[in-house]
Amino acid sequence: MTLIIDGHSFHYEIENLCRIFFPYQQIKVTTELCEDNILAYTGVKTQPEGLLITARLKVDSYQKEISCFLNQQESADIKEQKRRMEILLFELFTDYCGFTPKWGILTGVRPVKLLRSLIARMGEEQGMDYFKTQLLVSNEKADLSFITMHNEEKILSTLTPDSFSLYISIPFCPSRCSYCSFVSSSVEKTINLIPKYLELLCKEIQHTAKVAAGLNLRLQSVYIGGGTPTTLSAEQLRILLDTISGCFNLSSCCEFTVEAGRPDTITSEKLIALKRGGVTRISINPQTLNDSVLKTIGRRHTTAQTLSAYAMAREYDFDNINMDLIVGLPGDTVESFISTLNRVIALSPESITVHTLSLKRSARIFQDENEPFSKDAKAADQMLDYADDQLLQNGYVPYYLYRQSRMVGNLENTGWAKPGFESPYNVFIMDETQTILACGAGAASKIKDPNSDCIERIFDFKYPYEYINRFEEMIIRKDQVKAIYDKFCGVPK
Ligand code: SF4
Repeated sequence: MTLIIDGHSFHYEIENLCRIFFPYQQIKVTTELCEDNILAYTGVKTQPEGLLITARLKVDSYQKEISCFLNQQESADIKEQKRRMEILLFELFTDYCGFTPKWGILTGVRPVKLLRSLIARMGEEQGMDYFKTQLLVSNEKADLSFITMHNEEKILSTLTPDSFSLYISIPFCPSRCSYCSFVSSSVEKTINLIPKYLELLCKEIQHTAKVAAGLNLRLQSVYIGGGTPTTLSAEQLRILLDTISGCFNLSSCCEFTVEAGRPDTITSEKLIALKRGGVTRISINPQTLNDSVLKTIGRRHTTAQTLSAYAMAREYDFDNINMDLIVGLPGDTVESFISTLNRVIALSPESITVHTLSLKRSARIFQDENEPFSKDAKAADQMLDYADDQLLQNGYVPYYLYRQSRMVGNLENTGWAKPGFESPYNVFIMDETQTILACGAGAASKIKDPNSDCIERIFDFKYPYEYINRFEEMIIRKDQVKAIYDKFCGVPK
């Protein structure tokens, strides 16, 4: 599709809005007037008394244009100009698609954080009102955001300026799922890299521990993710966990999570290694309990394997298990999702994270790029409605929520937990309120200023082979953590 930008600078936001409705389309953004089968025009024209904002949508034989006028006072506010433009275009898209996305014009990743800032600025009632009437968020999503915000706040109140979390990346998986958009390598291609990767990762962890100790930082949570960390053998997991406990003081650590995501990687030896290594929380991710959908998405495990991995984890006394599900998977239906959710709730894991499928460019699921999202979106929407309702009824509370670009129906991912089992790490990373020191390929450390909202990032190399070949550069980058803290705290160079 072509997006015409005429007389304004909101191309980034407007392009994101177009993506909500045509997630599979390549969008050509131009300032030239031109023609295309799918064409969105957005223009701002100066008039004697203010600004005229116009949006036009043409899709095959559909064609409509609407405008609004901003007086001089309104025109002076660039954010207001952008919001009004988004509202016009949103109206045209919903008219054409016959479907109203429940997050309205919001395209950002952190709606709960946005709501919190609105409430801080305007008060609870007006903040919620603005969220619903000016950003067009539905009552249902506004309420979900509000409850999540309150549950997050309990966890955020445990933060101290000297606390941090540690993230470790294991970017390997037994095979690649067709919808995956992470930097993760299937072990079929990269198994030879794992021993060297682990050796260097342990060195990076030890180096990071020295940096953290030099700054007197206090470790609050550890999260080993990926990828699928349990792709490592039991012995490799032991080496990794011993390295962490050998160089960090874990006495203040309230959560130690390992993603054991793919049930086909879980064995009794690995569970023993995790338990002995101090792991307090694991994630076993069915995504769906429908075997034919699992096959379609290339997960290469079965429902029976998920159930047996879960039972085994309980046998080894894991008392804090998360299970991830995805709505909007290809081949899944509302009925099949309902059955999955009911069965997962019956297992009674301590937390359940309900994701919405995100179709990033790198994912391999085929889509008709000319199709707007409405069909898949309606089904995903019904699935989420059912999930929210059932999870609440079964004693789970929403405690973190985020969105990604190109999510089916522009919906959301929500972490639900039984009270007391909310994962602090998930809240810290989503809210960007704590320093996260991250190690391993594809990981990004986020250094949070203890005195403001400012964050600086240090990126590890993206792919394991780069990480291995350029490891020394990575270690030098890690030393910037101290320099960044010194800058934040006003320490002279
Ligand atoms: S298990 Fe997760 S990280 Fe690994 S390939 Fe599948 S979606 Fe990607």
